[in-house]
Amino acid sequence: MSTPPPSQGSLSRPVSDHSPDDVVLPFSVEPLDVRGRVVRLGPSVDHILGQHKYPPPVARLVGEAAVLTVLLGTSLKMEGRFQLQTRSDGLIGMLVVDFDAPDRLRAFARYDPERLAEIDAETELLGKGHLAFTIDQGNEMSRYQGVVALEGQGLEEAAHQYFRQSEQIPTRVRLAVAESVTGAGANWRAGGLMVQFLPTSPDRQRQVDLDPGNPPPGVAAPVQEEDDAWTEAKLLASTIEDHELVDPMLSSERLLYRLFHERGVKVFEPQGVRDSCRCSREGITNMLKGFSPQERRDMIGDNGKIGVTCEFCSAFREFDPQDFDEE
Ligand SMILES: [Zn+2]
Repeated sequence: MSTPPPSQGSLSRPVSDHSPDDVVLPFSVEPLDVRGRVVRLGPSVDHILGQHKYPPPVARLVGEAAVLTVLLGTSLKMEGRFQLQTRSDGLIGMLVVDFDAPDRLRAFARYDPERLAEIDAETELLGKGHLAFTIDQGNEMSRYQGVVALEGQGLEEAAHQYFRQSEQIPTRVRLAVAESVTGAGANWRAGGLMVQFLPTSPDRQRQVDLDPGNPPPGVAAPVQEEDDAWTEAKLLASTIEDHELVDPMLSSERLLYRLFHERGVKVFEPQGVRDSCRCSREGITNMLKGFSPQERRDMIGDNGKIGVTCEFCSAFREFDPQDFDEE
């Protein structure tokens, strides 16, 4: 799940200040052997968070998870789904974000409103549990899952652990979410940056940032020297401020220029992202067919119908129980 290699020729041009929303911009910093992506979400994340009317702490975390999912999911080639899912004992018991290549995003969280008042630290939102990243490339490709324990470290750090353990690619991620209030109303915005160290030169093939494992008894643990290029890239990425990631007036190109202009940064074709649920009447019919007749009878409401609300997009659909029993 690495950033695709540059495929276009090099061309110098002025840094664009055009700042579209719901766009992912891939880039590379060749002198540092670094590739990455910047994502800026506007209407898509505002719609996802707004339709659920999440309280702000929950909305912020769902927004962060959406940015992380887009950063990782946009590396999928062609068809496929990337899913982020948490299950934990915190205020937010479950959080799911789906990215369906090439551009569809949806998300929801289950949380306990009664515990909202007790929450005084962000770490308590998720609590303890696990975070799973699942890549599903369809029938012929295998399903892949990486799991990280959640212990109050937050989504950025959990993503770093995932890349260390599962992908073995030195990676840094930054995530930011904010609600901007203007005369026109309040809107959620979210942004993120991912940088990955993908050395092409043999001099830089050392696997920095990875756990060397336990040395044999009596042998000192090897001192891991980090490549200077990666040290520099990590340092530069860490200087980015939350407000820069969510600033609608600051273009992704301008942001990258601020970070990497001394080294030279190349940008590639931007990719769009949209909030779009893939639920359908047909899909839910198939799901209902999977239940026993007794289970379906238990779902019948006062009006004699089975009502199903999609947790992702809140779409409500009604089904006639007789349609199932005739089969
Ligand atoms: Zn839906």
